[in-house]
Amino acid sequence: MKAIAVFPARREVMLIEQKEPVITQPDQVKLRMLEVGICGTDKEICSFAYGTPPAGSDYLLIGHEALGEVIEVGAAVTQLAPGDLVVPTVRRPCPHERCRSCRAGHQDFCETEDFTERGIKGTHGYLAEFVVDEAQYMNRVPQHLREVAVLVEPLTIAEKAEYQLYKLMQRRPPWIDPTLSERAQGRGHTALVLGAGPVGLLGAMALRAREFETFIYSRGQVPNPQSEVAQAIGATYFSSQVLPTSQLTTHTGPIDLVYEAVGHSPLMFEVLRALGPNGIYVLTGIPGWPTLIEADFAALFRDMVLKNQVVLGTVNAGAHDFGAAIMDLEIFYQRWPDAVRALLAERTPIEQAVERILGWPAGIKSVISFQR
Ligand SMILES: [Zn+2]
Ligand SMILES: [Zn+2]
Repeated sequence: MKAIAVFPARREVMLIEQKEPVITQPDQVKLRMLEVGICGTDKEICSFAYGTPPAGSDYLLIGHEALGEVIEVGAAVTQLAPGDLVVPTVRRPCPHERCRSCRAGHQDFCETEDFTERGIKGTHGYLAEFVVDEAQYMNRVPQHLREVAVLVEPLTIAEKAEYQLYKLMQRRPPWIDPTLSERAQGRGHTALVLGAGPVGLLGAMALRAREFETFIYSRGQVPNPQSEVAQAIGATYFSSQVLPTSQLTTHTGPIDLVYEAVGHSPLMFEVLRALGPNGIYVLTGIPGWPTLIEADFAALFRDMVLKNQVVLGTVNAGAHDFGAAIMDLEIFYQRWPDAVRALLAERTPIEQAVERILGWPAGIKSVISFQR
């Protein structure tokens, strides 16, 4: 079968042929891969900045944003059957008894950093025609989401953030309105999304679905495919080339929530200063380069104290977030079908996957498709 492998020691990325995997344990399932999304993490692994092959292997099969179809199940698997569509959870628990999070099934909060991640750290990923995996980490997706379900994994980042956000909102009673459902708790609140890549736009959809007044701040000038998605979901798009950060709040009013999905530290810092009273600032981007920022940190910390602000970093996602992402994607797809499809403008066959990963993205989200 065909697969995409990264050889870190040889600094090579290539399409390889290898034997199809077979089920060896009763709790395993075999998947025929349908689609795999490509993100910045894959690009970094392919530039050898990141990524660890499994022990004893000189290569890592990459790909973690996956959609597969179950074609075979082990003898002990009862919850899945051939024909089911599944999105796998990426991170797997560390082996340590002392890790309270992993032992409780919350490996996205692992305390030891000895977790593994499929396609990233210590285990092979999903850019392969067939994969064998443990059934307990599969999240079943309804058949009618087949066309867009490759977005589930990137959406889990926003879902984990929103789950924590909801808990944080409860610290200040007026944020939670008992007359509203959990889904409408954003009503009357302002959210700013930094970055209009797939993570930013999916986060904006999640915020709009919860009725936040949502602004998106990104580099590209209007109109562009991202600003069109923003418009379709009822968010307001500002280009940083037109509107400087210092003038943001004159257009947005006080910002209750920032959802950062850009990973550019000077911007992350500048916008922190625009956060309003009782504001919550959620960081999901990972800055790559060391950057010295000259600033009055006393003023920044003073503001954070005097305004009751929260800065929250969040990474990866747990089983709960995958379930929430599947439910939310269904809502987005019903409400804004064209905007959701616009994220996935083009599919690239596995034979051209390496060029696609190393080159420019196809549309807003690059997707490798296993067409047969
Ligand atoms: Zn990713
Ligand atoms: Zn752990």
